[in-house]
Amino acid sequence: MNQVDYLRISLIDRCNFRCQYCMPEGAELDYILQQQLLTDGELLTLLKEVFIPVGFTRFRLTGGEPLLRPRVVELVRAIASLPQTQDLSMTTNGFLLAGMAQDLYDAGLRRINISLDSLDPETFDKIIGNRSRSRWQQVWNGIQAAHRVGFDPLKLNVVLIPGVNDREILDLAALTLDREWHVRFIEFMPIGNAEMFGSSGWVPSEELRQQIRERWGLTEAQVRGNGPADVFKIPGAKGTLGFISQMSECFCDRCNRMRLSADGWLRPCLLNETGQIDLKSSLRAGISTTELCSSVRDLLAIKPEINFKQRYSGSAGTYTRTMSQIGG
Ligand code: SAM
Ligand code: SF4
Repeated sequence: MNQVDYLRISLIDRCNFRCQYCMPEGAELDYILQQQLLTDGELLTLLKEVFIPVGFTRFRLTGGEPLLRPRVVELVRAIASLPQTQDLSMTTNGFLLAGMAQDLYDAGLRRINISLDSLDPETFDKIIGNRSRSRWQQVWNGIQAAHRVGFDPLKLNVVLIPGVNDREILDLAALTLDREWHVRFIEFMPIGNAEMFGSSGWVPSEELRQQIRERWGLTEAQVRGNGPADVFKIPGAKGTLGFISQMSECFCDRCNRMRLSADGWLRPCLLNETGQIDLKSSLRAGISTTELCSSVRDLLAIKPEINFKQRYSGSAGTYTRTMSQIGG
């Protein structure tokens, strides 16, 4: 059985973007109320007295948009300085990153994934649901700042949507030719976006690899990280290409993670909520962290049965909670 030692922590369910595939305009989003969010103190207690004792040592901060969390730099510093933290990373849309990259690095964050679905500002703004001044340049500045500051590896996440940004596959892959950046293509999932998913569908990773192979060739490679990506590189390129193929391939057997939502629910699987535990309410009700450790251990023991273990067949429908609500 795979060792589950990686926790994805959603710091907030809100976001300053409305990506069409994640928080589509018009979707009813019930945001978590401020008093329902795990406080910094509660999160640190759970890490120190529950997750670390049961064996979690690698943490990723995500959301919603994690950089919207008040005092996020202090939180990063506190988590990075726990002696048992072996790896701390963040997934962000990069919009606020230019002004925060140095502080985050100084606080102990070393790895960062930034979402960048397009190199064309107009397409980018269409995807993120922006109707005012273009936000692409600000995100690009954030990526450059992260590079300058020294985040390593620096990964760019791309979700390809047929008819929207799939014509940019080669341009996005070309970013790795002379930069030590790692571009990861994530198959578009039917989570909280029934309308869009139904009309566009998704592009299988193998199709992307075929296009890249025909243009430059492709060899297997490696990059540091915790993810389920299959990693390749264009021969001679400085960076790598990752393919996350949760739609065309079931990688549940390799799953090494659980997710903690911003309101304190521990979820064993992205797509299956069986067995989830409300850690925040338990903590607030005075249940001891020793008892919470045994609940988490029990959940770890049954996780292999809970894992989704199904590749998308087209009949599974659309999951109604969005990625921003689950904590992507
Ligand atoms: N706001 C941050 C960001 O966008 O990087 C962090 C949270 S976001 C939910 C985490 C990742 O999930 C992003 O890389 C995003 O592209 C991806 N994502 C969101 N909805 C998705 C979907 N329906 N299918 C595939 N990936 C999705
Ligand atoms: Fe926000 Fe990230 Fe979802 Fe886009 S993918 S709406 S940036 S949480």
